Amino acid sequence: MSSGKAFNPFEMAQAQFDKVADILNLDEATRDLLRNPLREYVFSIPVRMDDGKTKIFRGFRVQHNDSRGPNKGGIRFHPHETIDTVRALAMWMTWKCAVVNIPLGGGKGGVVCDPHHLSMGEQEQICRGWVRQLAKNVGPLQDVPAPDVMTNAQHMLWMLDEFEAIYGAKYPGFITGKPVGMGGSLGRTEATGYGVIYTVREALKELGIAPKDTTASVQGFGNVAQYAIELYLQLGGKVICVSSWDHGDQCSYTYKKMSGINLQELLKITDKFGGIDKTKAKELGYEILDGAAWIEQDVDILIPAAIENQIREDNVTKISKKVKIIAEGANGPTTPEADKVIQEKRIFVIPDFLANAGGVTCSYFEQVQSNMNYFWEKDEVLSKLDTKMTAAYYAVSELAKKKKLYMRDAAYVISISRVAQACRDRGWV
Ligand code: NAD
Repeated sequence: MSSGKAFNPFEMAQAQFDKVADILNLDEATRDLLRNPLREYVFSIPVRMDDGKTKIFRGFRVQHNDSRGPNKGGIRFHPHETIDTVRALAMWMTWKCAVVNIPLGGGKGGVVCDPHHLSMGEQEQICRGWVRQLAKNVGPLQDVPAPDVMTNAQHMLWMLDEFEAIYGAKYPGFITGKPVGMGGSLGRTEATGYGVIYTVREALKELGIAPKDTTASVQGFGNVAQYAIELYLQLGGKVICVSSWDHGDQCSYTYKKMSGINLQELLKITDKFGGIDKTKAKELGYEILDGAAWIEQDVDILIPAAIENQIREDNVTKISKKVKIIAEGANGPTTPEADKVIQEKRIFVIPDFLANAGGVTCSYFEQVQSNMNYFWEKDEVLSKLDTKMTAAYYAVSELAKKKKLYMRDAAYVISISRVAQACRDRGWV
């Protein structure tokens, strides 16, 4: 995002919103309210660096819309963070929370920094400084942060500790992404991947196909992909290939076994970043193909679960005629140009902000459990997650059928109309 006129995510988020605002025929005031954040904070965080010099870091928090409940969204540490990226992500959080019908709004935050070049002590000061700047404007009833790109549970605990020190009391519901035992929720690790498959299961049901008669190809082999595969295999499906990034060769590969991959065997040769050991995979009988091969397979289901912009104009035509469902585990895996082609091909798409909303739904459960200081067993968390995801799936698919809308448009229509309604109910517009 550093190069001036390049792609601006906030403009893209606004363009998506405008399209749905037209479908919904929203009035001018509601459009104006929803296509911009309600509040933005831009501030400086002075940090005494290890070499004794003081360095100033730029921090952000954007609260897009809290008409349905406290804002919710991650904090990113990134050297190229910009306010427009944070604005776009905050808006997308509003729609994601609304599509799964959880009583939260959308927020996002960030700090322009690269944690790879900061000591633990310097990172701790950034976290504490971020909270000191915002303590009056965030909190369990206002805005609940979470981990995101390059932030983790340790950062969340430093932030929580600072918040509690300022207010002189315990507020575990201030932040999510905490470790289990320190206010975290069981089931969070599985939540996003399982959530993807809860929606796939329901889509197959609607299409009249038994999961055991289906095959899938998955891009990515990290947190989302691994748990999506686990549950899909439990339902009886067969995954014939996965792809992952190879840090040594700096490119991606596809690992294929026509008889079906063995999840446990692949996990044993996978590093903590979701990279698979190529040599060992070969020894285990996997065919090693080009990273792009995952999209060309003759399967029923494609699950992009790696990074953004993976289904594009240049490769969308390679999708097999056999593919019936694309379940977007990753955020933004499909470009708008490729999306048009998929729509024409009549492939059933479960859009990202519905398919991968299991993560934020479980974060909401963490917040609820933290606020009441009583924690559920894993089965209870997962069964509540299933209920929420299944209900969200049907709300979208039924609207899509009723109004003859593309699934992505139907999901946006549901979210935006829910948020617009909350704004009207409160008398804001
Ligand atoms: P992760 O870092 O655990 O795993 C990413 C995987 O993608 C790794 O296996 C990596 O090797 C692979 N990968 C990276 N670049 C690739 C490429 N060019 N080709 C093939 N494989 C590649 O990440 P994750 O948490 O599983 O997240 C995956 C996606 O899901 C991201 O878009 C993320 O924003 C989104 N998401 C994650 C969550 C969550 O709770 N983890 C929630 C919502 C959305």
